[in-house]
Amino acid sequence: MNRILIASAFLLACISAVCAAETPPLPVAVAPVIKAPAAKLVEPRLFIARSNIPGHARIALTFDACMGQADERILSTLVRERIPATIFVTARWLKRNPAALAVFLQNPELFELENHGENHIPAVDTPTLVYGIASAGSPQAVRQEVEGGAAAMLASGIPAPHWFRGSTAKYDLSAIGEVRAMGYRIAGYSVNGDGGSLLGAAITEKRIASAKDGDVVISHINQPTHAAGEGVAKALVDLKAEGTEFVRLQDVKDMGDDQTTE
Ligand SMILES: [Zn+2]
Repeated sequence: MNRILIASAFLLACISAVCAAETPPLPVAVAPVIKAPAAKLVEPRLFIARSNIPGHARIALTFDACMGQADERILSTLVRERIPATIFVTARWLKRNPAALAVFLQNPELFELENHGENHIPAVDTPTLVYGIASAGSPQAVRQEVEGGAAAMLASGIPAPHWFRGSTAKYDLSAIGEVRAMGYRIAGYSVNGDGGSLLGAAITEKRIASAKDGDVVISHINQPTHAAGEGVAKALVDLKAEGTEFVRLQDVKDMGDDQTTE
């Protein structure tokens, strides 16, 4: 009920604004055009150099640790199967997950740790909402998100990061330029493995297991209660059985859209 009231109040305010600004008044149906145009966002793709060896697809698995917990189903499978991966961590996640961090640091031959920001705020330098999350909103705030993430990593004993992936993996082009100027490559992806960790186990397994030579897969390693993680863990075993060559971003040449890597 409250939502309906708030929506009604907002609609009335819009109508009033339109009436004040325009002559003759615009019909209610076009009232949203008075809002400032949203920032143009991109969701860059990233590929890695292919192996071009039949039966040995080269795939880069990337996992975001946004906030919350560690998904032991995925982490234990990576360690047990000796599958290398690139993990994007936030300062928030690091603070809450010292045990998982210790596993990462104890297996440097498996895990490359990279920067997912300080507070999981989208790297967009104008104010907007991305999937309902408020963007950084200014170049200074984008810089703080990136620098804050890196500082927390260094303080946790992680080597200096070279890749950045912002919250939601969406950016505006000026923010991409700003982050690149800080010395980072920006990590897009080519296969959305788990739909933001919201997909079911079976569809997640199918998506990841269908990755091809040169693909960069994005999934989440911070949602232990979601069904998707079960599918991720199964897909890792599937891919290994197919002879996949798993690589980390630091190990191979890459090609990113939207000037994210060149
Ligand atoms: Zn995230």
